[in-house]
Amino acid sequence: MDKKYVYFFGDGATEGTAKMRDLLGGKGAGLAEMTNISIPVPPGFTITTEGCVYYYRNGEFPPGLDEEVEIHLGRVEQSLDRRFGDVDKPLLLSVRSGARVSMPGMMDTVLNIGLNDKTVAGLARQMGDPRPAYDSYRRFVQMYGDVVLGLKPETEDDVDPFEEIIEAVKKDRGVDLDVELGAEDLRELVRLFKEAVKEGKGVDFPDDPREQLWGAIRSVFASWDNPRAIAYRQINNIPDEWGTAANVQSMVFGNLGDDSGSGVAFTRNPATGETGLYGEFLSNAQGEDVVAGIRTPKPIAALGEDMPEVYRELEDAARKLEAHFRDLQDIEFTFERGRLWLLQTRAGKRTAYAALTIAIDMVAEGLMSKEEALLSMEPEQLNHFLRPVFNLEQKEAAVKAGKVIARGLNAGPGAAAGKVVFNAADAAAWAERGEKVILVRVETSPEDIRGMSAAQGILTERGGMTSHAALVGRQMGKVCVVGCSDIRIDYKKRRFVALGGAVVKEGDEISLDGTTGEVLLGAFETQPSEIKRVLIDETLAPDESTVYRQFADFMSWADEARRLEVWTNADQPDQATVAVKFGAQGIGLCRTEHMFFAGDRITSMRKMIVARDEAGRRAALEELRPIQQEDFVGLFRAMAGRPVVIRTLDPPLHEFLPHEPAHIEKLAGQMDIPAEELAEKVETLRELNPMLGLRGCRLGIIYPEITQMQARAIIGAAVQCIRDGAPVRPEIMIPLVSHVNELFNQFMVVRNAADEIMDDEGVDVPYKVGTMIEVPRAALTADEIGLIADFFSFGTNDLTQTTFGFSRDDAGPFLRYYLAHNILKEDPFQTVDVNGVGLLMEIAVEKGRGAKAELEIGICGEHGGDPATIAFCHKIGLNYVSCSPYRVPVARLAAAQAAIKEPQT
Ligand code: ADP
Ligand code: MG
Ligand code: MG
Repeated sequence: MDKKYVYFFGDGATEGTAKMRDLLGGKGAGLAEMTNISIPVPPGFTITTEGCVYYYRNGEFPPGLDEEVEIHLGRVEQSLDRRFGDVDKPLLLSVRSGARVSMPGMMDTVLNIGLNDKTVAGLARQMGDPRPAYDSYRRFVQMYGDVVLGLKPETEDDVDPFEEIIEAVKKDRGVDLDVELGAEDLRELVRLFKEAVKEGKGVDFPDDPREQLWGAIRSVFASWDNPRAIAYRQINNIPDEWGTAANVQSMVFGNLGDDSGSGVAFTRNPATGETGLYGEFLSNAQGEDVVAGIRTPKPIAALGEDMPEVYRELEDAARKLEAHFRDLQDIEFTFERGRLWLLQTRAGKRTAYAALTIAIDMVAEGLMSKEEALLSMEPEQLNHFLRPVFNLEQKEAAVKAGKVIARGLNAGPGAAAGKVVFNAADAAAWAERGEKVILVRVETSPEDIRGMSAAQGILTERGGMTSHAALVGRQMGKVCVVGCSDIRIDYKKRRFVALGGAVVKEGDEISLDGTTGEVLLGAFETQPSEIKRVLIDETLAPDESTVYRQFADFMSWADEARRLEVWTNADQPDQATVAVKFGAQGIGLCRTEHMFFAGDRITSMRKMIVARDEAGRRAALEELRPIQQEDFVGLFRAMAGRPVVIRTLDPPLHEFLPHEPAHIEKLAGQMDIPAEELAEKVETLRELNPMLGLRGCRLGIIYPEITQMQARAIIGAAVQCIRDGAPVRPEIMIPLVSHVNELFNQFMVVRNAADEIMDDEGVDVPYKVGTMIEVPRAALTADEIGLIADFFSFGTNDLTQTTFGFSRDDAGPFLRYYLAHNILKEDPFQTVDVNGVGLLMEIAVEKGRGAKAELEIGICGEHGGDPATIAFCHKIGLNYVSCSPYRVPVARLAAAQAAIKEPQT
């Protein structure tokens, strides 16, 4: 038999399950699973993502798909006793997109398919009322005209052509609201809409239901490749080749009067994590109205008063879904004449604060295991706990001074300040040139995501807590205030007016409090979050902060689960202290050169570089040694016996020298040498390709006195600490080694210097000497290098540069092109390129451990804080990852997730 492309759901004959996400898409798998656990879902069928992929590869539907669709359509017709296209008992359908992972609102959906001038009469009879039938009809023509036939506003500031017609008809009839239009008015709208389509697009609106159905399926497949979906995939790293499924589903009607309606709900509050249903609904409406933010909906609690039966059923369904999926669910529902139907369920997007509370609560309620709880939080989300909030005093003063000009819904917590812009393109452009902006829109749509991503905060006039702006804002971690009906936006004049009369123009500064929903005039200062105050600033006691206690519990679970250690990159004691508070277990990279820039150290450094001979260099280095030693003492103390990896001098020397003639002259004066001599020295140090020049271990080999001085300072500092009774674990790391002889050379320099100090002082220091693996030759000969090195540390920045042959400083322009055109899927400087660079890492681990089984191996490149890279490091058996202090919590969670996801053997 041919491949199966269609799966039925509903009415006791469901073919799919929740596990079939890849094939059925998230929405299709969710619909299937809901019917499997007896939650009421209107029957229908899913055309698989494989069907979509086939469609893209071949430019046509798979052979036999039409028959398969007919067969499944027949089952739907039978189960509902209605027929698609029938004049007496018409069945109406929706065609809904749905990829493997949720891409909220990015792709298309068409509702009410199957209507024409004949079937609408049958629908009216079925509904017992012509008005909702014609309301569905005009919605259908509008949606199909937009989505399938492409009649849309030309720019984002233009009005929608269909809305324009509606406004004109309302004006003509002297009514304010859509609901005041009668069946005859709606019939007129349908006629005018079809006319507009004919005029705008030069096509007749299709009356044949099957033509409508296939047009919608084609559109849903095509919407996988619309610009906003592509942009969303890029931002979220979703592969282009997955494709979307198309769900064809029988319609239920939320627009049959006041006992009908439609809504969206979370099984718990997605902003705070509080238990209990959370969401909103509109009575007498179809679902699109809620999501689009056209009417501001009522809070879900009001449903408990309006329709207590429906509300109870919804609560039951929510509980059942949470227990079944063991996670927060985000659901879409419709009730038709008091009967509840669920149309979608998926894991709910939530703020970091909500994720934490929900994880802690669900573990306590026995709904989740600790492992599941750890998987429910995106590692990146942990950054949000460190995000600033407003300075309370300033904020209070501002409130007293009447700076609060409006209030909306608090959809995305945190504090943001910036200049107002009114469209996404401006937001992106202004942010590009370094401005902080607040994007202000009547409502946002998927077209706006780039601008939303560029903005500090988002403010919308319309829409609820589950509107597009709220959903996407929350996911991006943006400060977000929505449904702010206190403001009136005028796109044409590029300004908004607040209720109290304040006029805010493009470029004016405002602040958003996403925690309270307030909009303030002016840009306000922000202050550290609660967790930062407890953990770092120590201005708040741990037991005074609930969120801190939750955070500490959660992180302790992560620590139990992970195998990788998390170290940090730090050059100064204060950075090390912060990192330890965040849980760092060592320093994976201390860049000694950073220590040479502070204060007048740079002068000694420069003297060393321009010295005419070795004696001159030694003299200058002797000035530096005590200073370095003191720095190392500080670091060792801060790390209290944890390992500290110190790298010997790495960058090319010219980086320490001035290049402007005026600066050279000044420096020559300070150093008491002729300006020409200094200029000449600078010139001789100039390299065509400094990245591949005299740097790394090559420096220490040509000028052994540099390495010697650093080794003495390190061992000297260790001696000092040991004398004070403080434990130390120094590890000296030689950079940019490509040949074992380079390491051997530097190893001998270090050992001699260390022996000398230890003999002189009569103190034994336990120390290690190791190397960075950051050029391919080192990885390939790791068996030789491993005989000498006590440890390896992957310098993945250089390893990426040298493996690809890209200079990171020059790669920007073509890398952007590569990423935009899918030549590379990911920026190899952000996530380790597993197939190339990663292969070299694997080879190095295997060969290195072959030479020395107990070889300690870590990663200290920028990649050490990237969750995907961390998962890879876990897989190939590294001992630790090292990242910047503020990323340590992210790395701890990512390491835990890698361990949890590891296939059990
Ligand atoms: P999105 O992925 O953008 O959320 P959906 O396919 O979920 O798009 O459709 C949006 C809304 O359309 C749903 O929330 C629901 O309210 C409405 N809808 C879709 N299919 C049906 C249906 N068969 N009956 C009634 N309403 C539907
Ligand atoms: Mg939906
Ligand atoms: Mg390097």
